[in-house]
Amino acid sequence: HVQPLVIANWKMNGSRELVNAMSSALGNQSALTEQVQVVICPPATLLPALAEQASTAGIACGAQTASAHAGGAHTGELSLSLLQEFGVSYVLVGHSERRQHYGETDADVAAKTKAIIAAGCTAVVCVGETAQQREQEQTKAVIGEQLAAALADLPDNAATKLVVAYEPVWAIGTGLTASPEQAQDVHAFIRENLKKLIKTDADLIPLLYGGSVKSDNAASLFAEQDIDGGLIGGASLVADDFIAICSAA
Ligand code: 13P
Repeated sequence: HVQPLVIANWKMNGSRELVNAMSSALGNQSALTEQVQVVICPPATLLPALAEQASTAGIACGAQTASAHAGGAHTGELSLSLLQEFGVSYVLVGHSERRQHYGETDADVAAKTKAIIAAGCTAVVCVGETAQQREQEQTKAVIGEQLAAALADLPDNAATKLVVAYEPVWAIGTGLTASPEQAQDVHAFIRENLKKLIKTDADLIPLLYGGSVKSDNAASLFAEQDIDGGLIGGASLVADDFIAICSAA
């Protein structure tokens, strides 16, 4: 029912060369990019280069974060309108690296999510538990809280501008993927929660899994009922691997 979606999060990696290589590799896969919505979130300085090639490559441009503020004295930050000038239509929000290392709180995530949707972009809200929280069987409590905080007071039509990415912190960059069953269990929980939090069309919100998705485990994850695609870190930096993952969606 939901169009498959695969998002590359390059984090603080990449180069103009990689933008060119990835754009031309994906540009040769038009049958694939018609089936699967592909988004690349490069470092912000690479957005102009990506924007130039994105439409011919059949992909969309994303940002890894954005300010909730419209403008003013926010040294180093980028507003949504600045990002939109370079074709950004998707914005990641609440990635665990930003929560853990850059002090992003649930309140920040909520403010940013609102601002992203108000600007007409799609917010990719990231949630996930730490290893310790999973051991203590707090996974669903943690994710329920993160969702309730991030998605409070959104407009009625928010479903069309929202994606939720489940990224267990212990699976990010570790090679420890959640099993398809573990991921599906959390995704089903997220789906149920979304129905309570978003009044209209919550079923249409794509749910992505992220955390050590590779070309050899993507198909089994994406085969699960409530996994509509992936949010890909390391494996999105290699064109062949990334295309193989997109093909599995
Ligand atoms: P890895 O795919 O490198 O584990 O990263 C996942 C991630 O954090 C994507 O946002």
